[in-house]
Amino acid sequence: GAQRESKVRVKAHFDYNPDVDPYIPCKEAGLAFQRGDVLHIVAQDDAYWWQARREQERSARAGLIPSRALQERRIMHERTQRDGNDLDSKQNDDFDREQIATYEEVAKLYPRPGIFRPVVLIGAPGVGRNELRRRLIARDPEKFRSPVPYTTRPMRTGEVAGREYIFVAREKMDADIEAGKFVEHGEYKGHLYGTSAESVKSIVNAGCVCVLSPHYQAIKTLRTAQLKPFLIHIKPPELDELKSTRTEARAKSTFDEANARSFTEEEFDDMIKSAERIDFLYGHFFDVEIVNGELITAFEQLVQNVQRLENEPLWAPSMWVQ
Ligand code: 5GP
Repeated sequence: GAQRESKVRVKAHFDYNPDVDPYIPCKEAGLAFQRGDVLHIVAQDDAYWWQARREQERSARAGLIPSRALQERRIMHERTQRDGNDLDSKQNDDFDREQIATYEEVAKLYPRPGIFRPVVLIGAPGVGRNELRRRLIARDPEKFRSPVPYTTRPMRTGEVAGREYIFVAREKMDADIEAGKFVEHGEYKGHLYGTSAESVKSIVNAGCVCVLSPHYQAIKTLRTAQLKPFLIHIKPPELDELKSTRTEARAKSTFDEANARSFTEEEFDDMIKSAERIDFLYGHFFDVEIVNGELITAFEQLVQNVQRLENEPLWAPSMWVQ
């Protein structure tokens, strides 16, 4: 009879190689995949082994992959094993990661004319996410916009209320943060700074592309069905290229003033370590990764991805697709 195929698509949040899985009933029947792959789940009848094929390989034979329940069990098991044995910093990382990364159900999100998903550039400090955001806005300021941030610090001479910042009282901002009105916020030299959800929405409603480059911790608050952000990880290249590109950029002043200063060896190392941490904690949430070696190339990739966002249906959490 006709086989009934499920329509379920999931994005894998972990790598899987059946060749090194001691539990798979038959290694030859397994399907290898990598974190970020979209899988078509063909059958979920068995509690431990699902049948799936990679989305791009429609005609391929389906293979076995661990079910969500099995993968969750494995992660819990690995955690108890490790936490019992060595008490290193990895524990805190896992704690931050909050979710057990297995599979996330996804569906195609179709572009809607005149309504653009906010573009969120995440990256380790110094890698260039702010510079890329500025360039995108400079390319077409009518179309790409960033919200004016709020702050509790006093206004400086030369500043205009509502231009550099929206200046507010500490009590007001504390209360609004508490009420969940900010998509991100931080404290700097005793003053609060932050971006309100309302400012993001008003840019979207004006038919513009809202571009944000917040601290990576903002991912948790931003990633909602309401905002539907397109998340891009701006990554550093390998150490050698990171050093050489930044040194050349300084000589040619291709980076702006803030980035044109020289970095120390330690700062270069921190960028790479910090990027690895972002990848570990949030890697499964990114729609795209862009390596910022040569700024011009990274910028071109950013522009291409923003165009895809406008023209192509893209995979997003199925909860976001109505
Ligand atoms: P300034 O007070 O000199 O204008 O800005 C100082 C610092 O405030 C900036 O370098 C930046 O780290 C932080 N800041 C500015 N705008 C925002 C914002 O919208 N959100 C957060 N979290 N920090 C901001």
